[in-house]
Formats: sequence, structure tokens, C-alpha cells
Amino acid sequence: MTVNNDVITYRIDNNDRITYIGGVWDSFAQENGGKNATVNNILGRSLWDFLEGEDVKRVYRLIVDEIRNKGKLKFSFRCDSPEFQRFYDLHCTKLANGEIEFASIPAGITARQTEVTDPHDPITDALLVACSWCKRIRWPKVGWAETSGIPEFKAIFGEGHSRPLTHGICDDCYGSVLTQIRNPNGFATT
Ligand SMILES: [Zn+2]
Repeated sequence: MTVNNDVITYRIDNNDRITYIGGVWDSFAQENGGKNATVNNILGRSLWDFLEGEDVKRVYRLIVDEIRNKGKLKFSFRCDSPEFQRFYDLHCTKLANGEIEFASIPAGITARQTEVTDPHDPITDALLVACSWCKRIRWPKVGWAETSGIPEFKAIFGEGHSRPLTHGICDDCYGSVLTQIRNPNGFATT
């Protein structure tokens, strides 16, 4: 994969409205099933319209505030497709006009792991929580674990959404994001 061709860049203004999207956004959005998430449908909208879950918004609030204070910040995140775990570095920079630019740079890709699920987890309508960073699911008995096989991953994240799902952040990712945000150099090494 050609790394530079996969960079996605976007900017928000002082009111957190998206002012610019560059790079491979449209093809990325299509691959991930976001057929209505084309550049023209996103420009001018609030960043917060695209983040799901109160915990996730709280973490992004910290991140955005920290970039405005510090000028730059880098952190890692994961955004999977049905077949692959994909890792990214997000480089965030405050520009001279006060806008924040986010550049999402691919940092690695691996096949999705073989799963751990809880055999005692009954198939119910209970709400599952997905970590928005590592995409693990909080199962009732085992706690945070990889999703169970591609069919189930699709059932949870794809069309045909079969279990009610909400988004949050697991303890590991919360700790890691906070460490990265608080890195005094602005750029974490992880
Ligand atoms: Zn996580």
C-alpha cells in the first residue's frame, strides 16, 4: 500500500465546523459503507455530528482543546474495515488562521484477530458497548474483547445491524489517549 496516497486531511474552524477535506476521503468513506459521507455532504457541518457516544465526544473535546492550547498534538487510533484492523496516526496542527488541521496517516494494517467471545454470553437484545478506538466490544461476562468473527462484526457494524450498540471508550484506550494528550512535547512516541 502506498502510504502517502492514503492520507486524509481535514480542517475545522473556531466553531468546530469542517472547512476542508483533502486526500482520499470519498473512496475511504465508500469502503466503509458511508455512502452519504461524501465531501460535499460534510463541508460546513460540525465535527460533533460525526462522533458517536458521550465518552467519545468527551475525549475529542479534550483533544480539540489541547490542540488549541498547545498548537499541535499527535495520537494513534484504530479504524477497522470488516476484514482488517487498521491503525492510524492522527497529526493535529493549529494553523495560522486558527483552524485545526487533522492529518490521518496509516500506521499499519493487519488481518482481524481471531476472536475471543464469551460462550456464556446469551444472545439477547442487551446493549453492547463498542470502544470507538480499538473496536473491541464489552461483552457481559469477559469484558472488553475482540468481536466474534467477521459475520458477527458485520452484524454489529454493517448493514443488518442486529444488536443494539452504543459507542464508548475502553479503559486501556482512555489511558492511552490521556497519556498522548498530556505528552509535554505535543507529539507522543507511541
Ligand atoms: Zn479501546
